[in-house]
Amino acid sequence: MKAAVLREFGKDMPIEDVTLDDPKDREVLIRITAAGVCHSDLSVARGKGSMPLPCILGHEAAGVIEKTGPGVSRVKKGDAVVLSWTPYCGNCFYCRAGLPAQCEAYNRAAGQGALFDGTGRLKSASGERIYHFTCQSSFAEYAVMPETGVLPIHKEIPATVAALVGCAVTTGYGAVVNDAQARPGEYLAIWGLGGVGISALMAARLCNAEVIVVVDPNPRKEEVARRFGATHYINPKTTEDVPAKIRELTQGRGVDAAFDCIGRQAAFEQGYNSIRPGGKLVIVGQAPRGDVFTIPAARAFPAVQKRILGSYYGGGIPEQDFLRILDLYRIGKLELDAMVGKTVPLPGVNDAFRELESGIDTRTVLVFN
Ligand code: NAD
Ligand code: ZN
Repeated sequence: MKAAVLREFGKDMPIEDVTLDDPKDREVLIRITAAGVCHSDLSVARGKGSMPLPCILGHEAAGVIEKTGPGVSRVKKGDAVVLSWTPYCGNCFYCRAGLPAQCEAYNRAAGQGALFDGTGRLKSASGERIYHFTCQSSFAEYAVMPETGVLPIHKEIPATVAALVGCAVTTGYGAVVNDAQARPGEYLAIWGLGGVGISALMAARLCNAEVIVVVDPNPRKEEVARRFGATHYINPKTTEDVPAKIRELTQGRGVDAAFDCIGRQAAFEQGYNSIRPGGKLVIVGQAPRGDVFTIPAARAFPAVQKRILGSYYGGGIPEQDFLRILDLYRIGKLELDAMVGKTVPLPGVNDAFRELESGIDTRTVLVFN
């Protein structure tokens, strides 16, 4: 099969002929139909994560089941599926605690660039091992992953939309609905209007938030913010005191919840200083390794009862959220088609990364024939 192989951080990924072994016990082979290009892939490609190389990125995808390994019961050949980037074992402490994204088997495997049995299925034309990313590696024509990493969906759902549900949509929607538990009439603010931020914005609207402020330094995002239902836009580059501006828009109080959808120290601090007493700062963005952020440790923290929450894959049970989100899409409550930007074939992935770096309006999706 063809795949984009990350061989060197910061360099383009060549499209190579790659061998993919058959699925083993409780694994499936998926023909990839669409794969979104997420900032998390970009961060790894630029060396800001920790991944053994060479590897195949891609963790926001949809596909069709091509083959099932021994013991597979969740799907069958021909099923259209959304791929998850946290397949789970179902048996460990975290799976039993309702935190499948923390699954011990998954995190061990993902850390090693392998599948659950600690081995890989990917090899280069010369037979060298290629590492898996999030047990998925969907910047490729096919993928093998544990069966808990796929969820069957209606065939009529466009593959591009289904792919985005696999990461950006579930992440942004869940941050608002599961982690912040946003209520009608609340005041919310979102830092970073990429695929994740737009998804959080759509969820904020769905929750009937009264004020929804978007903070993004790219001036083109003002129009995008309004299009997806923001009530206010703030450019942090031209606004001296972002928290003060936000208080001005919220009766002097601050927002009920602030969402970092970029992973920058500046956004964490602005977010923390923009929430009202008792409010929540929900951190979704993945900051580069080594970054820290500081909050005043004296009176400010305990006395104002603020809460800081880490939000991972929407904070709920991702596959339950996939179904809920696709239902909301079907009945017209989430306009996910509007999130799909450019669609390009696999070799377009390197340009898609550069465009993501310089700032694009909506999500670029790789499409496969
Ligand atoms: P993106 O590149 O599409 O969008 C990022 C946006 O942030 C852009 O609009 C950019 O202009 C804006 N931005 C840059 N600096 C900013 C600043 N200082 N303040 C406010 N906005 C700023 O990114 P994406 O794909 O939407 O991903 C967003 C973040 O979420 C990334 O860090 C990604 O790794 C992370 N992520 C987290 C999870 C999770 O489960 N927690 C899942 C997916 C992605
Ligand atoms: Zn992602």
